[in-house]
Amino acid sequence: MRRETPLSARPDLLARLAERVAARAAEHGLRRLRTALRGDGARLVLNGRELVDFASNDYLGLANHPAVRAALVDCAQRHGVGATSAHLLGGHRPEHDALERELAQWLGRERVLLFSSGYAANLGVMQALLGPGDVCVQDKLDHASLLDGAKLAGCQATRYQHADSGSARRQLAAHPGAAALLATDGVFSMDGDLAPLRELVTVAREASATLMVDDAHAIGVLGANGCGSAEHAGLAPHDVPVQVVTLGKALGVAGAVVAGSTALVDGLVQFARSFVYSTATPPALAAATLAAVRVARHEAWRRDRLARLVAHFRRGAAARGIALGASATPIQPIPAGSAERALALSRALESAGFHVPAIRPPTVPEGAARLRVGLSVLHAERDVDALLDALSRALKESHDERRNRPRPDARHAGREARARGVRLR
Ligand SMILES: *Cc1c(COP(=O)(O)O)cnc(C)c1O
Repeated sequence: MRRETPLSARPDLLARLAERVAARAAEHGLRRLRTALRGDGARLVLNGRELVDFASNDYLGLANHPAVRAALVDCAQRHGVGATSAHLLGGHRPEHDALERELAQWLGRERVLLFSSGYAANLGVMQALLGPGDVCVQDKLDHASLLDGAKLAGCQATRYQHADSGSARRQLAAHPGAAALLATDGVFSMDGDLAPLRELVTVAREASATLMVDDAHAIGVLGANGCGSAEHAGLAPHDVPVQVVTLGKALGVAGAVVAGSTALVDGLVQFARSFVYSTATPPALAAATLAAVRVARHEAWRRDRLARLVAHFRRGAAARGIALGASATPIQPIPAGSAERALALSRALESAGFHVPAIRPPTVPEGAARLRVGLSVLHAERDVDALLDALSRALKESHDERRNRPRPDARHAGREARARGVRLR
């Protein structure tokens, strides 16, 4: 390959990226893309070994539900796969329309609008609502897509103390004249705890701000009818004027909708760029999602069983002296401290037959690395018991190891690696 003579001392982007990867590896923060075969139910095959999967968001067991599979295959057989264009250019099919109507009815909304992912929905709705001169006030631990959405919208973005409505109120009060969005996860994706929604509704009302709730982990799971965190909190749908619901977690497929008033959806159709300039999801996926929504709506036993499994997990952890975060949802974090320790615990569980990934910075704050257990109706109580036994052993071994062999500070190791420019792996 011919090398150009450099014209300036401009940094090389790909070389810089490689350095960042090496630094991340030195901090025990490297992400690995692994190819997993899905087994039956909550089983996963990694490196040829079957593991019980505690990393999926398939809370209600719909990703492989016979009715969902059949709807997809049937629609694909009749109409093919791709939507062939964006929604506004002929890609909007009867399957999309039927899914939107069913979701609107379930959620008690005038309208919903389909996006290709939750990430795209959050970017689109924030960009449509906000611009320079406006303010977005959001929880410090909101999902990355909400943080990115506020950045992309070009508004002023502030983050309040986690789940602290007083902190939210003060930040809104600091921008009295600006149009304001108050945005929060309904269930926090890495902690499993709930936003103080009743308080936030009041704060938003008093400050004339619009409240937006990302219910990615609440839809299908929370509320008597599975409608999410507002229903769970005893609020009416209109108390949360903008609700984002993803379709790839409890609903087991992919995509998202923004739910709210006709005026909201009319505006998004015009101005949400991630809706306008993106190919419509395959109609067969919409058909499959419609089947999943019907199961999620009407089979309340799935929610009940899931809640019992969460209680079983928490009781079992307490009995074994395992510390957990304060979560009553299927997301159960086990604090590990350093990224290195979280990785070691995750590896120990993997050799014992369980897939429980380590969640490390920057996904969570420095020093707050953790194992994140996701429970599903597909898990049996004995799966949960076996996981807790293995976890208890791994925690004990890791504790003994920490006592006997002090390790160098991980961040220091990262700095050293950067300074030496080492490349790992
Ligand atoms: C997963 C998630 C998203 C992104 O949804 P996708 O459909 O996976 O893009 C958005 N918000 C929260 C809180 C999430 O957990």
